[in-house]
Amino acid sequence: MAHVTEAELLQHVPNELYINGEWVPAIDGKTLTVHDPATGKVIKTIADAGVADGLAALDAAVAAQDAWAATPPRVRGEVLRRSFELLQERKHEFALLMTLEMGKPLAEAYGEVAYGGEFLRWFSEEAVRITGRYGTNPEGTGRMIVSQHPVGPCLLITPWNFPLAMATRKIAPALAAGCTVVIKPAELTPLTTLYLVKLLEEGGLPAGVVNVLTTSTSADVSGPIIADKRLRKLSFTGSTAVGQKLIQQSAQNVLRTSMELGGNAPFLVFGDADLDRAVEGALAAKFRNVGQACTAANRFIVQASVADEFARRVTDAVTGFTVGRGTEAGVKIGPLINEDAVAKADTLVQDALGRGATLLTGGHAVDRVGTFYEPTVISGVQPGSDILREEIFGPVLSIIPFDDEEDAVRIANDTEFGLVSYVYTQDLARGQRMIERLQTGMMGLNMGVVSNAAAPFGGVKHSGLGREGGTEGIHEYLSTKYTLTPDPFAA
Ligand code: NAD
Repeated sequence: MAHVTEAELLQHVPNELYINGEWVPAIDGKTLTVHDPATGKVIKTIADAGVADGLAALDAAVAAQDAWAATPPRVRGEVLRRSFELLQERKHEFALLMTLEMGKPLAEAYGEVAYGGEFLRWFSEEAVRITGRYGTNPEGTGRMIVSQHPVGPCLLITPWNFPLAMATRKIAPALAAGCTVVIKPAELTPLTTLYLVKLLEEGGLPAGVVNVLTTSTSADVSGPIIADKRLRKLSFTGSTAVGQKLIQQSAQNVLRTSMELGGNAPFLVFGDADLDRAVEGALAAKFRNVGQACTAANRFIVQASVADEFARRVTDAVTGFTVGRGTEAGVKIGPLINEDAVAKADTLVQDALGRGATLLTGGHAVDRVGTFYEPTVISGVQPGSDILREEIFGPVLSIIPFDDEEDAVRIANDTEFGLVSYVYTQDLARGQRMIERLQTGMMGLNMGVVSNAAAPFGGVKHSGLGREGGTEGIHEYLSTKYTLTPDPFAA
């Protein structure tokens, strides 16, 4: 369906829960509505799961667990690989669907299809590389075998900002490792996951291996699943506040957890940086997904010697950005996800201005239907401003000047978050010092975007636990078993 219309596409998206290989309504018949943030209009009405649906989904995942774990790794990998191929054929549909339910510009939605698809391909390859060790114990009296086994049924909870990639980044490694799952997408953007599961079904997914719950009552539905002793793992991507609650709930059942939480990325530009590259990287790190990314640069920490020039260049670029519905040609800035997001961005900007920052462009909600905020640049942000502490999650670029390297590192690390940092310098030794000193799980060194399915994505401090992607990603869904056997040569 290369030239599918919006209405045709939405008709093809399932509107029910997916449990044990069947599309079913919510047991109590409840529904929820999904909106286009660019127009405010309802685009689809779908099933709204309750507690009983949640437990039915867990039942299905538990029932399917042993057979899926016993399925040859090559066969598990081929389900993922076929799904990757199908996704390439349907890239137009998935890109349009994400733009409709989440608002991101279509060009970026295609980028997410490419990125999200790579997790299916990468983990189709990793499924056959689950290995162990065999060795002699130091005393020489026995043999030590170390083997890897699927953790067991998993609950996967995803956010609204990358509706496809956040789902594939969890589903693909879980399936490759031999785990069955219940996935609960965000209430604001559930359609992409429903459509993805339809695709996985075509790719050969057996019944019960992936189960989908769409719900407006996430805490009520996930609570009993997390408390159920049959669940063995919780993988969550979302805000730190919700992640902290889920870690507490998981403690009761001593669950394995992966937590991909909030960020407050520093973007450091040193006086010796290639400024053209730094500006290009800054625009990508800030305005991708209209700033609604956990990896979005939140604080531009720029050496005083180049701060004015950097500010002038980013402001020139930003004033040329087209704001509009993500489906329109040339749009760079789509809507924010909802009214609250617009209000939050504006409150942070007004607070910073009130404390002495300078507005270089933007600074207001856009006066049109939908939830739009002007692309904004502010400079001279003062210590103590809320924008330095909180995730902006909007198209606001805020510049803080610094004097020397010590100063830059101190400002960069002055946050409870630690997901990603960006550093622009042409001094190799300085770049290496930053790798060692910046407290983040990832770094872009003269790069404004770091995400890659082949790399371990994740944070330190309040940005989370565990890694997704790379060779590390599958281990989040495997547990290690050690077995000791006697020396086979002993009499
Ligand atoms: P959120 O925490 O509000 O919601 C995330 C998911 O959790 C949604 O599916 C939501 O329905 C569900 N949820 C909310 N409350 C819950 C509860 N009490 N119990 C169980 N489930 C609950 O986050 P969001 O607004 O959807 O996403 C934005 C946040 O996600 C930002 O903080 C962003 O930085 C973070 N994020 C992190 C990464 C990462 O990889 N580190 C990636 C994307 C987004």
